[in-house]
Amino acid sequence: MEIAPAVHAVRLLNVYAYLVCEPQMTLIDAGLIGSGRRVERYARRLGRSMDELRRIVCTHAHPDHIGGVRELAGDREVEVLMHPADLAGLEVTLRDAVGNRNRGQLIAYFTRHPGEATPMVEGDVLPILGGLQVVHTPGHTPGSVCLYAPRFKLLFVGDALQVIRGKETIASQVFSEDIAEARSSVARMAELDVETIAFSHYRPVTDGANGILRTLAQSAASAVSS
Ligand SMILES: [Zn+2]
Ligand SMILES: [Zn+2]
Repeated sequence: MEIAPAVHAVRLLNVYAYLVCEPQMTLIDAGLIGSGRRVERYARRLGRSMDELRRIVCTHAHPDHIGGVRELAGDREVEVLMHPADLAGLEVTLRDAVGNRNRGQLIAYFTRHPGEATPMVEGDVLPILGGLQVVHTPGHTPGSVCLYAPRFKLLFVGDALQVIRGKETIASQVFSEDIAEARSSVARMAELDVETIAFSHYRPVTDGANGILRTLAQSAASAVSS
């Protein structure tokens, strides 16, 4: 499904990855382990080959987003980008995970490491879609980022937002590491001019995106102050 020029939502197991088909291809998130073949099949239907894959951009380091990185990057010259706060989170030993009984650390321990990754931080602009801006929106994980393409008013939110019973809302309380931080991060999204919100686990929203983000930011702010 093409959600913006050259941007395809690729349905994987329970999650979307986004394939940007410019002369070189970029993948935003890579699904669970085993997702590689699905992405490859999708690309082939467009007449493209994974040899044209230049980079994989990770919205955060959960296993349903980075599990497929290694198999897709393979031995190719593929750059893997991730926020350093989530990269650090992956360097967890079993003793850390069990000793602290912290859910984030447990998830990290059982997440397949994506291998070498380049840190990307707030304010970085990736050379795709006319300049894709990295917006650090911590909370769901410390290194969660949104990716914003002003040219297409397109915002990839990863798991920083979700949709429950047809209504957009902030990140999951159960699966997020710092829900207060997740609330504050919505204000960052509401500053942007957005027409399309591309989620990881739900179909994109193309109607009233700016209004949705502003309303969410307002209710998040009042939840913080109350
Ligand atoms: Zn997640
Ligand atoms: Zn997820």
